[in-house]
Amino acid sequence: NQTILLKSRPSGKPTLANFDLTTTEIGTPGDGEVLLRSVYVSVDPYLRGRMSDAPSYVPPFEVGKPISSGIIAEVIESKSDRFQKGDYVSGSLEWKERQVAKAKGLQQVDPGKAPLSAYLGVLGMTGLTAYLGLTEIGKPKSGETLVVSGAAGAVGSVVGQIGKILGLRVVGIAGTDEKVDMLTSEFGFDAGINYNTTEDMSAAIGAACPDGVDVYFDNVGGDISDAVLFHINKFSRTINCGAIAVYNSKELPRSVSVRPFLVKNSALMQGFIVSNYADKFPDGVRQLAQWLQEGKITHKETVREGFDTIPQAFLDLFDGKNTGKMVVNVKK
Ligand code: NDP
Repeated sequence: NQTILLKSRPSGKPTLANFDLTTTEIGTPGDGEVLLRSVYVSVDPYLRGRMSDAPSYVPPFEVGKPISSGIIAEVIESKSDRFQKGDYVSGSLEWKERQVAKAKGLQQVDPGKAPLSAYLGVLGMTGLTAYLGLTEIGKPKSGETLVVSGAAGAVGSVVGQIGKILGLRVVGIAGTDEKVDMLTSEFGFDAGINYNTTEDMSAAIGAACPDGVDVYFDNVGGDISDAVLFHINKFSRTINCGAIAVYNSKELPRSVSVRPFLVKNSALMQGFIVSNYADKFPDGVRQLAQWLQEGKITHKETVREGFDTIPQAFLDLFDGKNTGKMVVNVKK
């Protein structure tokens, strides 16, 4: 039974040496438990934080213990009246091919309503992050300008599409020309900027946002965000959703140069953690599913194959190798 453990804590950018592919006993389910076979494993930038031992909003992974993330699994055997053999569930589970888990804490997902992997993306944690971050903190109004960083990724691509549904001008920032093309051709953004080939990001943002920036959905932090914040409007709202540009930094981030702009513009900047909005998940999933069904949003995925590719899929997030949600299909 293949299992992936945290072998060592990374210093700076993680590498394959931080992971250990090993085997473990499967175990048998007791009362209220199920035996699961993993089908899709989610890899997410926030797992980088859990590989360190710095205190955060989720406890760190333990060295020598399995890593966990969002997983879609099939119920192989059930000792719970909540699930039957053959059901599919979603939950925070360990990176194991098979495992015994408590039924409590798992949610049933319906493969008849959406592809299973969508429950890790647009209908799961990343879709909810996009929807709730944008609406709860961004409070967007039709006609306003929204800038999204990490725009071609799982969260960013959904944020931009929701922005269009809500009647905003949407500008996305991403790392390759292919992604920038996709922002306008597939996700309906009004404009895109490639931060890797643009010398003067501030000028590019100014040109793409002639009326300034009312809502900034920030997935990356660092220099890109400083450049955006120079263009914020009075009473603008910035959602600090993530800061992947600095997750591997060994020094404290120094992104403070634009603070006077926040003061001058009475601007709001608020950190967002999706789990704080759990009471809004059912309505959020309903809304996202409806938009998906109506064809108002599309969801892209980058799907890797094979249990042993999970660590590399995770590492590739930091090199922008994914478009949309990165998932690993581990079903044999
Ligand atoms: P993505 O699908 O967006 O994947 C990560 C992307 O980040 C890559 O594809 C890459 O795209 C971009 N990237 C990588 N390194 C850098 C860098 N140095 N500078 C700029 N961009 C970079 O991941 P998610 O959609 O899952 O997550 C997006 C962000 O949202 C992350 O910061 C994550 O931590 C955060 N998040 C926060 C949640 C919360 O509750 N607060 C919940 C879920 C996610 P490119 O080619 O464009 O560089």
